[in-house]
Amino acid sequence: MTNKFRKHTIKRSCDKKFKDYHSYKEYLKIDFRNRCAYCNMHDTWIMPLPFQIDHFIPRVKFEDAKRNDLDNDYRNLMYSCPVCNRLKSDAFDGEIPKDKISNPYFYNPVDIDYNTIFTRDEKGRIQSEDELGKDMIKRLQLYRPTKQMAWFLDELKQVYDEIEKRMQLEENSEKRRKLECAHNKIGNVLFRRQGFFVHSFMTEKTTRKKKT
Ligand SMILES: [Zn+2]
Repeated sequence: MTNKFRKHTIKRSCDKKFKDYHSYKEYLKIDFRNRCAYCNMHDTWIMPLPFQIDHFIPRVKFEDAKRNDLDNDYRNLMYSCPVCNRLKSDAFDGEIPKDKISNPYFYNPVDIDYNTIFTRDEKGRIQSEDELGKDMIKRLQLYRPTKQMAWFLDELKQVYDEIEKRMQLEENSEKRRKLECAHNKIGNVLFRRQGFFVHSFMTEKTTRKKKT
């Protein structure tokens, strides 16, 4: 059995122009539905650690090519978890295209539906049949256990929210009490798992140098 890689589509809605790309962060958060462009992790799961802004065509490459316009070009900015941002690093090759935002090492997460490239197996592991997709799994280390754990937290949160909805609609007091009990139990598990997840995320080792 396979699961969808992500359940939303990313649509850019910001038409403002800022001089400092950090000013786009709140817009990115909304447009990317609080999720990492690459691994789909929700930003809530690593709180209080902040998500970051990735330049899809990396800074060192566009500065060399005198294309500093790409520093604040909203199309070149991706909402990213700190791990994907660090591992993606400065990977890029060849000429910078004039009219589009592309990078030979990664599918553009906004232009390409990642559901056509990646799936998740029944345990939440990220998989791909596509050659570049497989390469991205290696490069971004999408095989890391925390990617599975984040998916599991998503699944648990979905059940938690569904029980809450049913609870609010339930008129029978005995049934509502049982739903409340299940809701509390799942809430406790979710809370504990999230604490464990943040710890795992912070202590998980990466093998590539930190992005500057
Ligand atoms: Zn990520």
